[in-house]
Amino acid sequence: MKYPALKNYINGEFVVSGSSRTLPVISPVDGALLSEVPMSTAEDLHTAVEAARAAFHKWSKTPIKERVQVFFRYKFLLEKNLQELASLCSEENGKTIGESVAEIEKCIELTEFATSLPQLVTGEVLEVSKGVECRTEHVPLGVVASIVPFNFPSMVPNWTIPNAIALGNCMIMKPSEKVPISCGRIAELLKEAGLPDGVFNVVHGDVEIVEAICDHPGIEAVSFVGSTKAAKNVYQRATKNYKRCLALGGAKNHLMVMPDAIPAMTAQNVVASMSGCAGQRCMAASAMVGVANVDHIIDKICDEARKVVPGVNLGAVINKESKERIERYITEAEEQGAKILVDGRGAKVSGKENGTYVGPTVIDYVKPDMAVATEEIFGPVISIMRTNTVDEALAIENANPYGNAASVFTQNGGVARYVIDHASAGMIGVNIGVPVPREPFSFGGWNESKFGVGDITGKSSIEFWTKLKKSTVKWNPEAGVNWMS
Ligand code: NAD
Repeated sequence: MKYPALKNYINGEFVVSGSSRTLPVISPVDGALLSEVPMSTAEDLHTAVEAARAAFHKWSKTPIKERVQVFFRYKFLLEKNLQELASLCSEENGKTIGESVAEIEKCIELTEFATSLPQLVTGEVLEVSKGVECRTEHVPLGVVASIVPFNFPSMVPNWTIPNAIALGNCMIMKPSEKVPISCGRIAELLKEAGLPDGVFNVVHGDVEIVEAICDHPGIEAVSFVGSTKAAKNVYQRATKNYKRCLALGGAKNHLMVMPDAIPAMTAQNVVASMSGCAGQRCMAASAMVGVANVDHIIDKICDEARKVVPGVNLGAVINKESKERIERYITEAEEQGAKILVDGRGAKVSGKENGTYVGPTVIDYVKPDMAVATEEIFGPVISIMRTNTVDEALAIENANPYGNAASVFTQNGGVARYVIDHASAGMIGVNIGVPVPREPFSFGGWNESKFGVGDITGKSSIEFWTKLKKSTVKWNPEAGVNWMS
């Protein structure tokens, strides 16, 4: 085992879980055993919640300009430790080192946004009638929880950590049991940055501890990122217990390619979107709809896909089950009559025979009712459908239950605006394969890709992590009494 067995992080200390149930942490890169992660007990969680509640009084009363100083220092520490954090990320998740560097750079951008929060939460004040002032303040909620998936071991935790904590909350983080190591390093860096003990805590586990989080009366709000099945479970359970909840789910993102799209640029974007992070991104292009004759662009997509080589510029998928699932999807599509133009099944990387790799896969002549067209595959696979018109393409996109992202490739501004208006997704791209809105804009899908109100990052997150206090004040008695006094 490369690293020691993992511990929870409670009240500024790494502590052994009360549970004897553990899971191995295996590197997808080469199958090496990295560590083992405890499946914490409800008592472990309770200890963490008590520590966070104890820290909340002082932290929430610390002025926000002081609170964000921690995140200025944390940003500096992310920069200083970027290479080490990136290699840890690649080791436990399997993505390439370049992708991990980009992930930590994104953590830095997320932290920069949090340092700007004092400028964004000033509240409002207005003299609403003679001598009477109304004023609003953003007040932190208390102890909040963040439950995260495997595909971004550092970035998704940092979607919530800087904003929630800078806004005055104390947090329980539940990392993915598949990539639990990075969150321990994040805890160490936050402490080094001067975050008081108890403000940030890490409790490891799987679905059992997630459900305990949803049930714990000391937790005010739950943010969740993961598959739609789990997001529904968390949203239902947390809101049944009267908690505020924002639960982001899975995705099936459609790229609509028009015949006037610039071929080389389109092909590069399509392939980068479907194969980046081995297709394990909720923003990955997974379905493409070619409108009219786009054969010349599909040829270029295949050429680009062949340049993506497992173990060189394509990382591993998370585990053996995932590799088998992805390959099953490809085989099933082939059996149903789709044409495999580039086949990533059976990929092997020399010297890393126990790694779990799937090569880039391009499937053409997919029918809209095939599983590869409708279900989230979460691998480096693009399923191409053909239509005659943009309306038919939009009908396929609209019929999908998810709604994270959709993109159109065209040089026609009218068509681009039409797709922005008619695609049923929260994040739309024009000539962009991965249309992630960057700070200060917020991230969040629609439909079965998100349950709850608002978005998880950017300005929208302020509403999720705070409650509004409204005060009405009369300073001058000579103003007299009127209808609202
Ligand atoms: P997952 O749903 O299996 O696990 C996510 C988290 O939920 C983990 O911490 C896990 O321990 C916990 N969990 C697992 N099953 C649960 C259940 N039944 N009830 C409650 N909690 C449960 O997801 P994953 O495989 O780690 O991540 C991949 C998924 O996450 C994909 O579907 C991807 O699209 C999605 N994702 C979505 C976004 C987004 O912004 N919408 C971002 C990243 C990932």
